[in-house]
Amino acid sequence: MNQFRFSRRPDIGKRVSVSFEFFPPKTDEMEARLWNTVTRLEPLQPEFVSVTYGAGGSTRERTARTVKRILTETGIPAAAHLTCVGASRNEVNAVIREYDALGIKRFVALRGDPASGVGQAYSPHPGGYENGAELVAGLRSIADFDISVAAYPEKHPESPDFATDIEMLKRKVDNGATRAITQFFFDNDIYERYVERVRRAGIYIPIVPGIQPVHNFRQVANFSSRAGAHVPAWLAERFEGLDEDPQTHALVASAVAAEQVMDLIERGVGDFHFYTMNRADLAFAVCHMIGIRAHEPAAMPAAAAAGSAAA
Ligand code: FAD
Repeated sequence: MNQFRFSRRPDIGKRVSVSFEFFPPKTDEMEARLWNTVTRLEPLQPEFVSVTYGAGGSTRERTARTVKRILTETGIPAAAHLTCVGASRNEVNAVIREYDALGIKRFVALRGDPASGVGQAYSPHPGGYENGAELVAGLRSIADFDISVAAYPEKHPESPDFATDIEMLKRKVDNGATRAITQFFFDNDIYERYVERVRRAGIYIPIVPGIQPVHNFRQVANFSSRAGAHVPAWLAERFEGLDEDPQTHALVASAVAAEQVMDLIERGVGDFHFYTMNRADLAFAVCHMIGIRAHEPAAMPAAAAAGSAAA
């Protein structure tokens, strides 16, 4: 009976599309690591990749440089994240025009977190875009960009309730967003209920699940509460005792992410956005498990080639 599970169909990899998120590197060493990651993931032919924007525009140049390099040196469509925190409309518009002139036509439009840190009270810059929805309108007024926005299956921590949260998503869509990428989550029922709510509100753009492979459980658990994503007890149990055992941690993380993605495929989901943390291994392994293969096969190592020739 199991052979008929949708996620095990031989052609499933052709029906699923993936995107990968990176952050802009700070040092030459980090840049080299990012580039190894991009080079490893590129043959999987992602729908697009995206590069985050540091708090308060702190990575404006590095984000642009990284997106530009991906556009120039790979065939992958690349999006720049952009926030409006701590900047006037004119300043944000100048960044948009600068990116546009570099050939960047895809954006992930975000309000951003307060400069004082995630979870602190937010107050918009006087004369700035107040929220993600206003930033989408600002982008649209400049050019016909491809615009993604953020969505929160467990609602944004600042939202008093789901209705307010989804109303904000609706405003983003009304202003021109064509795709939402979710905050990460670990309980697929929460995502499914959220998508039902969103559809009932008359929002029909793709709500692409953000998948967080757990590279470091402690870090993810710390960040989760501030990001409005809860860590279920069963997840904590799976990583229990593995802080000093990176190999087992990585194996468990790969199993956890693959299980989550396959279950979403069973529920009819076809697009996935991976928060890679600039590391390829877990995202690559999950993509492999769901049948996504490198377009150009990697060259066979000499020893393996010799072995197969002898067989
Ligand atoms: P908004 O949608 O503007 O607001 C968030 C919520 O606050 C709304 O859902 C709404 O409920 C409430 N709210 C806001 N304004 C109002 C209002 N006027 N009236 C009523 N309710 C309101 N951060 C970065 O700094 N850089 C990044 O590159 C980055 N990338 C991200 C990518 C993804 C996929 C996600 C999910 C998040 C990302 N973030 C990033 C984090 C994001 O900036 C924070 O979650 C931020 O707190 C909210 O941004 P937003 O665009 O969702 O905000």
